[in-house]
Amino acid sequence: MCGKMKKTVRYCYDCKQKCHRHGKIKNKQRWKCKNCGLTQFSVYKRCIFTPERKDAIKRLNSENVGIRGMARLLGLSPTHVIRCILQLSALVKRPDYYEYGQEYELDELWSYSECKNNPQWVVWAINRKTRVVIDFVVGRRTKETVNKLVEKLKRLHPKKIRTDKWAGYKSLLADIPKEIHRPGRRITNILERQGATVRNSIKRLNRKTLSFSKTPKMLEACILLYMDDCKWRPYRSGFIIRKPIF
Ligand SMILES: [Zn+2]
Repeated sequence: MCGKMKKTVRYCYDCKQKCHRHGKIKNKQRWKCKNCGLTQFSVYKRCIFTPERKDAIKRLNSENVGIRGMARLLGLSPTHVIRCILQLSALVKRPDYYEYGQEYELDELWSYSECKNNPQWVVWAINRKTRVVIDFVVGRRTKETVNKLVEKLKRLHPKKIRTDKWAGYKSLLADIPKEIHRPGRRITNILERQGATVRNSIKRLNRKTLSFSKTPKMLEACILLYMDDCKWRPYRSGFIIRKPIF
């Protein structure tokens, strides 16, 4: 055979830069990224995390299915499902909001990791008018944890912040005028209702459930994945008609 061989160009899976040839294994061309040094094949035949499976895991997570349930439905091992959830959640970008003069509700959801003696709180804030989740943090119910969220809310120049009467909020929001921060009972009603939706959608946040997170990281990953799936507006995902996953 003579004549010019057609030059194929490969781009890195990770950083999308050009790759060069890097030997062969079992007659399969191996490539190496010039930028990040990652080696890779052009085609992976035994790929576990196919785009369809990733999409299915993301959606089953929002449909109140636990790790083992997902593994049984998709024919994967629970370890693979956990790894996929952690990988997918690492790609989720927390949204940035550029708004001011809005009314917010701030509250916590109680949960735990590993055992019931290890409580974890999901502190989250919602825009009362648009019902969009501003952000959430997972951790112990300390001022340090809650402050991350409070700082974010303060930057949005709120018209009003509604919280319950926990003493931590009082001291964290002490520097803003009293008419803006109003602690009280039954004033975070929209957030409480949204909380019920979130509790019904994520298996590990169900009450009296047997599926719970073994690490706070996994709890955060599952909530992040859910928030990304519902575009940061909690809904009963069944209402939205999409293509079947199987
Ligand atoms: Zn690369």
